[in-house]
Amino acid sequence: MSGSPIPAGTAGTMPGIAIYPGQPGSVHVTELPRPQPRPNEAVVRVRRVGVCGTDRELIEAKLGAPPPGSRELVLGHEVLGMVEATGREVRAVKAGDLVVATVRRPDGCPACRTGQPDMCIQRAYTERGILGAHGYMVEQFTEREPFLVPVPASLEGVGVLVEPLSVVEKAIRHADLIQARLRSWAPTTALVLGAGPIGLLGTLLLRLRGVEVVTVARRPAPNPAAAVVEACGARYHSVRETPLADVAATLPNIDLILEATGVSALVADGMTLLGNNGVLVLLSVTGGESVAPVPLDAINREFVFGNKVMVGSVNAGLEDFAAGVEHLAEFERRWPGLTSQVITHRLRGFDEAERIADATDDGIKTVVEFAVD
Ligand SMILES: [Zn+2]
Repeated sequence: MSGSPIPAGTAGTMPGIAIYPGQPGSVHVTELPRPQPRPNEAVVRVRRVGVCGTDRELIEAKLGAPPPGSRELVLGHEVLGMVEATGREVRAVKAGDLVVATVRRPDGCPACRTGQPDMCIQRAYTERGILGAHGYMVEQFTEREPFLVPVPASLEGVGVLVEPLSVVEKAIRHADLIQARLRSWAPTTALVLGAGPIGLLGTLLLRLRGVEVVTVARRPAPNPAAAVVEACGARYHSVRETPLADVAATLPNIDLILEATGVSALVADGMTLLGNNGVLVLLSVTGGESVAPVPLDAINREFVFGNKVMVGSVNAGLEDFAAGVEHLAEFERRWPGLTSQVITHRLRGFDEAERIADATDDGIKTVVEFAVD
Protein backbone atom coordinates (compact mmCIF):
# COMPACT_ATOMS: atom_id res chain seq x y z
CA MET A 1 0.00 0.00 0.00
CA SER A 2 1.15 3.51 -0.69
CA GLY A 3 0.62 6.30 1.83
CA SER A 4 -2.71 7.85 2.65
CA PRO A 5 -3.86 10.40 0.09
CA ILE A 6 -3.28 14.10 0.54
CA PRO A 7 -6.65 15.61 1.52
CA ALA A 8 -8.10 18.14 -0.88
CA GLY A 9 -8.74 21.70 0.24
CA THR A 10 -5.45 22.17 2.09
CA ALA A 11 -4.44 25.06 -0.12
CA GLY A 12 -4.46 28.64 1.15
CA THR A 13 -2.61 30.14 4.06
CA MET A 14 -1.96 29.36 7.71
CA PRO A 15 -0.59 31.29 10.70
CA GLY A 16 2.98 31.00 11.97
CA ILE A 17 5.01 32.61 14.78
CA ALA A 18 7.95 34.46 13.25
CA ILE A 19 10.68 37.01 13.90
CA TYR A 20 12.54 39.44 11.68
CA PRO A 21 16.13 38.17 12.19
CA GLY A 22 18.42 40.97 13.27
CA GLN A 23 15.56 42.97 14.80
CA PRO A 24 15.28 42.39 18.58
CA GLY A 25 11.86 41.65 20.04
CA SER A 26 10.16 41.19 16.67
CA VAL A 27 8.00 38.16 17.52
CA HIS A 28 4.75 38.30 15.56
CA VAL A 29 2.10 36.08 14.02
CA THR A 30 2.45 35.91 10.25
CA GLU A 31 0.63 34.23 7.38
CA LEU A 32 2.34 31.57 5.33
CA PRO A 33 1.32 29.49 2.36
CA ARG A 34 -0.01 26.14 3.50
CA PRO A 35 2.67 23.59 2.53
CA GLN A 36 2.09 21.38 -0.48
CA PRO A 37 3.71 17.96 -0.02
CA ARG A 38 5.86 16.26 -2.61
CA PRO A 39 5.49 12.50 -3.17
CA ASN A 40 8.37 11.77 -0.74
CA GLU A 41 7.04 14.04 2.01
CA ALA A 42 4.55 13.79 4.85
CA VAL A 43 2.28 16.58 6.04
CA VAL A 44 2.60 16.96 9.81
CA ARG A 45 0.14 18.80 12.09
CA VAL A 46 2.12 20.57 14.81
CA ARG A 47 1.04 19.73 18.36
CA ARG A 48 3.76 21.13 20.61
CA VAL A 49 6.96 23.11 20.14
CA GLY A 50 9.56 23.52 22.86
CA VAL A 51 11.27 26.86 23.51
CA CYS A 52 14.96 26.92 24.42
CA GLY A 53 17.83 29.33 24.95
CA THR A 54 18.48 29.39 21.20
CA ASP A 55 14.97 30.78 20.64
CA ARG A 56 15.62 33.52 23.19
CA GLU A 57 18.89 34.39 21.40
CA LEU A 58 16.98 34.47 18.10
CA ILE A 59 14.41 36.83 19.60
CA GLU A 60 17.21 39.00 21.01
CA ALA A 61 18.64 39.08 17.45
CA LYS A 62 21.93 37.48 18.51
CA LEU A 63 21.66 34.87 15.75
CA GLY A 64 19.35 33.62 13.04
CA ALA A 65 18.80 34.02 9.30
CA PRO A 66 15.59 33.88 7.25
CA PRO A 67 15.08 31.49 4.36
CA PRO A 68 16.29 32.84 1.00
CA GLY A 69 13.86 35.42 -0.35
CA SER A 70 12.13 36.04 3.00
CA ARG A 71 12.52 38.75 5.66
CA GLU A 72 10.88 36.53 8.26
CA LEU A 73 11.99 33.39 10.04
CA VAL A 74 9.37 31.11 11.59
CA LEU A 75 10.59 30.02 15.02
CA GLY A 76 10.62 26.55 16.54
CA HIS A 77 13.08 23.66 16.29
CA GLU A 78 11.79 21.26 18.98
CA VAL A 79 8.61 19.77 17.61
CA LEU A 80 6.11 17.01 18.27
CA GLY A 81 3.46 16.57 15.60
CA MET A 82 1.03 14.12 14.09
CA VAL A 83 1.23 12.91 10.52
CA GLU A 84 -1.91 14.01 8.66
CA ALA A 85 -1.17 12.67 5.22
CA THR A 86 1.68 11.16 3.27
CA GLY A 87 2.94 11.38 -0.27
CA ARG A 88 2.75 8.18 -2.31
CA GLU A 89 6.43 7.32 -1.86
CA VAL A 90 6.38 7.57 1.94
CA ARG A 91 6.59 4.22 3.75
CA ALA A 92 8.01 4.69 7.25
CA VAL A 93 5.24 6.87 8.72
CA LYS A 94 1.47 6.99 8.20
CA ALA A 95 -1.42 9.28 9.03
CA GLY A 96 -2.05 9.34 12.78
CA ASP A 97 1.57 8.65 13.76
CA LEU A 98 3.20 10.95 16.29
CA VAL A 99 6.57 12.13 15.05
CA VAL A 100 9.45 14.38 15.95
CA ALA A 101 11.36 16.09 13.17
CA THR A 102 15.10 16.60 13.01
CA VAL A 103 16.47 20.09 12.63
CA ARG A 104 19.50 20.26 10.38
CA ARG A 105 19.43 19.91 6.58
CA PRO A 106 22.48 18.32 4.98
CA ASP A 107 24.59 20.05 2.35
CA GLY A 108 27.22 18.48 0.07
CA CYS A 109 30.20 18.04 2.41
CA PRO A 110 31.57 14.55 3.18
CA ALA A 111 29.95 14.50 6.65
CA CYS A 112 26.57 15.54 5.27
CA ARG A 113 26.80 13.13 2.34
CA THR A 114 27.32 10.26 4.75
CA GLY A 115 24.30 11.17 6.83
CA GLN A 116 25.93 13.28 9.53
CA PRO A 117 24.66 16.85 8.99
CA ASP A 118 25.25 17.48 12.70
CA MET A 119 28.98 17.08 11.89
CA CYS A 120 28.90 19.35 8.79
CA ILE A 121 32.49 20.42 8.22
CA GLN A 122 31.46 23.46 6.16
CA ARG A 123 29.05 24.67 8.82
CA ALA A 124 27.01 25.68 5.79
CA TYR A 125 23.92 23.71 6.79
CA THR A 126 20.47 25.12 7.24
CA GLU A 127 18.61 24.55 10.48
CA ARG A 128 14.85 24.79 10.67
CA GLY A 129 13.74 27.62 12.90
CA ILE A 130 17.32 28.94 13.26
CA LEU A 131 19.30 29.34 10.05
CA GLY A 132 17.88 29.70 6.56
CA ALA A 133 14.74 27.59 6.91
CA HIS A 134 11.37 28.13 8.60
CA GLY A 135 10.76 26.37 11.90
CA TYR A 136 7.84 24.49 13.34
CA MET A 137 5.68 27.16 15.03
CA VAL A 138 3.05 26.76 12.33
CA GLU A 139 -0.10 24.69 11.89
CA GLN A 140 1.46 22.25 9.45
CA PHE A 141 4.77 21.49 7.86
CA THR A 142 6.04 19.02 5.29
CA GLU A 143 9.11 16.87 5.71
CA ARG A 144 10.86 14.08 3.89
CA GLU A 145 10.53 10.64 5.42
CA PRO A 146 14.14 10.14 6.63
CA PHE A 147 13.94 13.25 8.80
CA LEU A 148 10.82 12.18 10.70
CA VAL A 149 11.21 9.89 13.71
CA PRO A 150 8.09 8.06 15.00
CA VAL A 151 7.15 8.44 18.66
CA PRO A 152 4.84 5.99 20.51
CA ALA A 153 1.45 7.42 21.45
CA SER A 154 2.27 6.72 25.11
CA LEU A 155 4.90 9.48 24.94
CA GLU A 156 2.48 12.14 23.69
CA GLY A 157 2.99 14.27 26.81
CA VAL A 158 6.80 14.32 26.76
CA GLY A 159 7.69 13.65 23.11
CA VAL A 160 8.48 17.34 22.58
CA LEU A 161 11.58 16.69 24.73
CA VAL A 162 13.10 14.33 22.15
CA GLU A 163 15.02 17.14 20.42
CA PRO A 164 16.78 18.45 23.56
CA LEU A 165 17.33 14.85 24.67
CA SER A 166 18.91 14.07 21.29
CA VAL A 167 21.56 16.71 22.05
CA VAL A 168 22.53 14.82 25.20
CA GLU A 169 22.31 11.47 23.41
CA LYS A 170 24.89 12.67 20.89
CA ALA A 171 27.11 14.10 23.64
CA ILE A 172 27.23 10.83 25.55
CA ARG A 173 27.49 8.70 22.39
CA HIS A 174 30.49 10.75 21.35
CA ALA A 175 32.03 10.46 24.80
CA ASP A 176 31.63 6.68 24.50
CA LEU A 177 33.20 6.70 21.02
CA ILE A 178 36.14 8.75 22.28
CA GLN A 179 36.55 6.45 25.24
CA ALA A 180 36.91 3.45 22.95
CA ARG A 181 40.58 4.45 23.41
CA LEU A 182 40.31 2.77 26.83
CA ARG A 183 40.14 -1.01 27.11
CA SER A 184 37.66 -0.50 29.93
CA TRP A 185 35.32 2.46 29.99
CA ALA A 186 32.60 2.30 32.59
CA PRO A 187 32.00 5.79 33.92
CA THR A 188 30.98 5.76 37.57
CA THR A 189 30.99 9.46 38.44
CA ALA A 190 29.67 12.35 36.35
CA LEU A 191 29.31 16.04 36.98
CA VAL A 192 26.54 17.90 35.15
CA LEU A 193 26.96 21.66 35.05
CA GLY A 194 23.57 23.32 34.63
CA ALA A 195 20.03 22.22 35.50
CA GLY A 196 18.15 23.51 32.49
CA PRO A 197 16.49 21.02 30.12
CA ILE A 198 19.83 19.79 28.71
CA GLY A 199 21.41 19.35 32.15
CA LEU A 200 18.33 17.58 33.52
CA LEU A 201 17.90 15.25 30.55
CA GLY A 202 21.62 14.48 30.76
CA THR A 203 21.22 13.72 34.44
CA LEU A 204 18.35 11.31 33.71
CA LEU A 205 20.24 9.60 30.89
CA LEU A 206 23.34 9.06 33.01
CA ARG A 207 21.26 7.81 35.95
CA LEU A 208 19.61 5.30 33.60
CA ARG A 209 23.13 3.92 33.05
CA GLY A 210 23.73 3.73 36.78
CA VAL A 211 26.29 6.53 36.89
CA GLU A 212 26.58 8.52 40.14
CA VAL A 213 25.62 12.03 39.06
CA VAL A 214 26.07 15.37 40.76
CA THR A 215 24.19 18.19 39.06
CA VAL A 216 25.07 21.77 39.94
CA ALA A 217 23.27 25.00 39.16
CA ARG A 218 22.90 28.45 40.64
CA ARG A 219 19.48 28.28 42.30
CA PRO A 220 19.32 26.88 45.82
CA ALA A 221 17.00 23.92 46.39
CA PRO A 222 14.13 23.44 46.70
CA ASN A 223 13.21 24.25 43.12
CA PRO A 224 11.62 22.26 40.27
CA ALA A 225 14.98 21.29 38.71
CA ALA A 226 16.42 20.08 42.02
CA ALA A 227 13.28 17.98 42.50
CA VAL A 228 13.87 16.18 39.18
CA VAL A 229 17.55 15.65 39.98
CA GLU A 230 16.83 14.16 43.41
CA ALA A 231 13.91 12.02 42.20
CA CYS A 232 16.18 10.13 39.79
CA GLY A 233 18.79 9.47 42.46
CA ALA A 234 21.29 12.16 41.50
CA ARG A 235 22.55 14.88 43.88
CA TYR A 236 21.81 18.57 43.42
CA HIS A 237 24.03 21.39 44.62
CA SER A 238 23.60 25.13 44.36
CA VAL A 239 26.90 26.85 43.68
CA ARG A 240 25.49 29.81 45.62
CA GLU A 241 25.57 27.62 48.72
CA THR A 242 28.62 25.46 48.04
CA PRO A 243 31.44 26.48 45.70
CA LEU A 244 31.87 24.10 42.78
CA ALA A 245 35.41 23.15 43.86
CA ASP A 246 34.07 22.10 47.28
CA VAL A 247 31.38 19.95 45.65
CA ALA A 248 33.96 18.31 43.38
CA ALA A 249 36.35 17.71 46.29
CA THR A 250 33.83 15.26 47.78
CA LEU A 251 33.78 13.15 44.59
CA PRO A 252 36.02 10.35 43.37
CA ASN A 253 37.63 10.64 39.91
CA ILE A 254 35.18 12.56 37.71
CA ASP A 255 34.89 10.45 34.54
CA LEU A 256 32.53 12.68 32.60
CA ILE A 257 31.46 16.31 32.75
CA LEU A 258 28.59 17.75 30.72
CA GLU A 259 28.80 21.54 30.55
CA ALA A 260 25.35 22.99 29.84
CA THR A 261 25.19 26.26 31.78
CA GLY A 262 25.63 28.78 28.97
CA VAL A 263 28.35 30.40 31.09
CA SER A 264 31.82 30.15 29.56
CA ALA A 265 33.56 30.65 32.91
CA LEU A 266 32.35 27.17 33.83
CA VAL A 267 34.44 25.70 31.01
CA ALA A 268 37.61 26.59 32.93
CA ASP A 269 36.16 25.00 36.08
CA GLY A 270 35.26 21.91 34.07
CA MET A 271 38.79 21.63 32.68
CA THR A 272 40.21 21.93 36.21
CA LEU A 273 37.84 19.42 37.84
CA LEU A 274 37.83 16.70 35.14
CA GLY A 275 39.29 13.43 36.39
CA ASN A 276 42.01 11.29 34.85
CA ASN A 277 41.04 9.63 31.54
CA GLY A 278 37.90 11.77 31.67
CA VAL A 279 35.88 13.57 29.00
CA LEU A 280 34.52 17.09 29.28
CA VAL A 281 31.70 17.70 26.76
CA LEU A 282 30.86 21.31 25.97
CA LEU A 283 27.22 21.90 25.05
CA SER A 284 26.66 25.60 25.74
CA VAL A 285 26.42 28.16 22.97
CA THR A 286 27.96 31.24 24.55
CA GLY A 287 27.02 34.33 22.59
CA GLY A 288 29.24 36.79 24.42
CA GLU A 289 32.85 37.88 24.08
CA SER A 290 33.99 37.37 27.68
CA VAL A 291 37.67 36.99 28.48
CA ALA A 292 39.00 35.59 31.76
CA PRO A 293 42.34 34.45 33.15
CA VAL A 294 42.65 30.66 33.45
CA PRO A 295 45.44 28.57 35.05
CA LEU A 296 46.68 27.24 31.71
CA ASP A 297 49.94 25.67 32.94
CA ALA A 298 48.07 23.60 35.49
CA ILE A 299 45.27 22.70 33.09
CA ASN A 300 47.70 21.72 30.36
CA ARG A 301 49.84 19.68 32.76
CA GLU A 302 46.82 17.84 34.18
CA PHE A 303 45.37 17.19 30.71
CA VAL A 304 48.68 15.64 29.63
CA PHE A 305 49.33 13.57 32.74
CA GLY A 306 45.67 12.59 33.02
CA ASN A 307 44.98 11.76 29.33
CA LYS A 308 41.97 14.06 29.45
CA VAL A 309 39.72 15.09 26.56
CA MET A 310 37.58 18.18 25.99
CA VAL A 311 35.12 17.99 23.11
CA GLY A 312 32.38 20.22 21.73
CA SER A 313 29.07 18.77 20.57
CA VAL A 314 26.22 20.43 18.70
CA ASN A 315 22.84 19.28 17.53
CA ALA A 316 22.35 15.52 16.99
CA GLY A 317 22.28 12.79 14.39
CA LEU A 318 19.26 10.78 13.32
CA GLU A 319 20.35 7.90 15.54
CA ASP A 320 20.34 10.26 18.52
CA PHE A 321 16.70 11.19 17.89
CA ALA A 322 15.82 7.49 17.72
CA ALA A 323 17.79 6.79 20.90
CA GLY A 324 16.02 9.73 22.55
CA VAL A 325 12.61 8.20 21.81
CA GLU A 326 13.70 4.87 23.33
CA HIS A 327 15.23 6.47 26.40
CA LEU A 328 12.18 8.70 27.02
CA ALA A 329 10.13 5.50 27.20
CA GLU A 330 12.68 4.06 29.64
CA PHE A 331 12.53 7.21 31.76
CA GLU A 332 8.76 6.78 31.99
CA ARG A 333 9.10 3.14 33.07
CA ARG A 334 11.80 3.88 35.63
CA TRP A 335 10.45 7.18 36.98
CA PRO A 336 6.77 7.46 35.97
CA GLY A 337 5.71 11.07 35.38
CA LEU A 338 9.10 12.53 36.27
CA THR A 339 10.18 13.65 32.79
CA SER A 340 7.02 15.74 32.37
CA GLN A 341 8.18 17.84 35.36
CA VAL A 342 10.84 19.27 33.03
CA ILE A 343 7.98 21.07 31.23
CA THR A 344 7.02 23.84 33.66
CA HIS A 345 5.29 26.39 31.41
CA ARG A 346 2.73 25.88 28.66
CA LEU A 347 1.55 28.59 26.28
CA ARG A 348 -1.46 28.50 23.94
CA GLY A 349 -0.43 28.45 20.29
CA PHE A 350 -0.71 31.69 18.38
CA ASP A 351 -2.65 33.51 21.14
CA GLU A 352 0.34 33.82 23.45
CA ALA A 353 3.04 34.24 20.80
CA GLU A 354 4.43 37.41 22.37
CA ARG A 355 5.11 35.57 25.63
CA ILE A 356 7.42 32.86 24.27
CA ALA A 357 10.55 34.86 25.12
CA ASP A 358 9.44 35.58 28.70
CA ALA A 359 12.06 34.63 31.24
CA THR A 360 10.87 31.84 33.50
CA ASP A 361 12.97 32.26 36.64
CA ASP A 362 11.03 29.61 38.48
CA GLY A 363 10.74 27.25 35.53
CA ILE A 364 12.65 24.89 33.28
CA LYS A 365 11.08 24.28 29.86
CA THR A 366 8.37 26.31 28.12
CA VAL A 367 6.27 24.47 25.57
CA VAL A 368 3.96 26.15 23.06
CA GLU A 369 0.86 24.05 22.43
CA PHE A 370 -0.88 24.11 19.07
CA ALA A 371 -3.32 21.38 18.05
CA VAL A 372 -3.62 19.77 21.48
CA ASP A 373 -7.08 18.52 22.42
ZN1 LIG B 1 27.94 19.62 5.37
